[in-house]
Amino acid sequence: MKIIFLGAPGAGKGTQAEIVSERLGIPTISTGTIIREAIKTGTEMGMKARKYAESGALVPDDVVIGIIKERLVKPDCQNGFILDGFPRTVPQAEALDAMGIAPDVVLSIEVSDDKIVERMSGRRVCECGASYHTLYNPSKDGAHCDKCGKELTIRRDDAPEVVKSRLETYHTMTEPLKDYYAAKGTLKCVEGQERVEDTTALTLKSLGI
Ligand code: AMP
Repeated sequence: MKIIFLGAPGAGKGTQAEIVSERLGIPTISTGTIIREAIKTGTEMGMKARKYAESGALVPDDVVIGIIKERLVKPDCQNGFILDGFPRTVPQAEALDAMGIAPDVVLSIEVSDDKIVERMSGRRVCECGASYHTLYNPSKDGAHCDKCGKELTIRRDDAPEVVKSRLETYHTMTEPLKDYYAAKGTLKCVEGQERVEDTTALTLKSLGI
């Protein structure tokens, strides 16, 4: 199964993607996680991406499309995959089409801007890709990852002024993808709920799993 998660930053794509990934035994590919890792290790791509990612802007299409092309040919993607954070622009979706990749389902998690701002202030992340929230989805001890035990951190781009610009970018650049995939008949929408497990129930139902 090939699934794309759409939604504003902080809508819960990563959290739901992780759950579905475990259930279906297919990998989640998060361009955001790949970019943050590259920035941290200082690769050439990371150095190119840094100024965009840290200011909340989108990394240029050619860079992100390159990342996806490299990742999707790996053997673990053969039985399907979940894309979290890609595509984010119409040209990126067109690039996926050009690669001969047609998603089975594109699931958009809908959350209002006000709620997004509230959620981002409580988000805590681990470098392994796991994501928590101080109120809605805390880790067991509140400070370390339940999966790998590493210390949780606050993403730089979750600062309130950066969140505002990320939301603007989402509405102008990414939201048009809903029409793009609706026209192909693959779009499904789920209302993001306060509790993670409630959103998960709706997500699994929508995916028919
Ligand atoms: P995320 O973790 O998905 O919120 O991504 C963090 C940041 O990485 C974004 O704010 C962008 O700067 C960059 N990024 C991730 N995915 C993409 C993409 N598909 N297109 C452009 N930039 C991206």
